[in-house]
Order: sequence, then C-alpha cells, then structure tokens
Amino acid sequence: MGCTICGRELSFNDIGATKKFINRGATTFFCKKCIAKRLDMSEEFMEQKIAFFKQQGCTLFS
Ligand SMILES: [Zn+2]
Repeated sequence: MGCTICGRELSFNDIGATKKFINRGATTFFCKKCIAKRLDMSEEFMEQKIAFFKQQGCTLFS
C-alpha cells in the first residue's frame, strides 16, 4: 500500500497521521509529506504534533 497522491511506501506513522489529521475512518492513506502539503503546514510542525500525540499515549503512532 502506498500514498494515494505520490505513491511513496507508507510507514505506520503515515497511516496514523492520515487518520489523525485527515479522517479517522480513512481507507486510503497519504504520506506525511502529502498530508503536510494538503493541510498547508510544515513537515517539521507535523512531526512536533505527532511527537505530542505520542506523548499523550496515542496508539496511532509508534
Ligand atoms: Zn505522498
């Protein structure tokens, strides 16, 4: 399974990020780069958000 937009192979965190940032019930997934672009935020900012969610015990990220 790859990113719907760019075809890049998806990591566990990419799938988690799609659910968290785009749609919880998503059945197609995007890589972090494409999500960041779509939501008009920097990848760096997204990484920070992901680190924060992880700290909160979110199981969508490893
Ligand atoms: Zn992509």
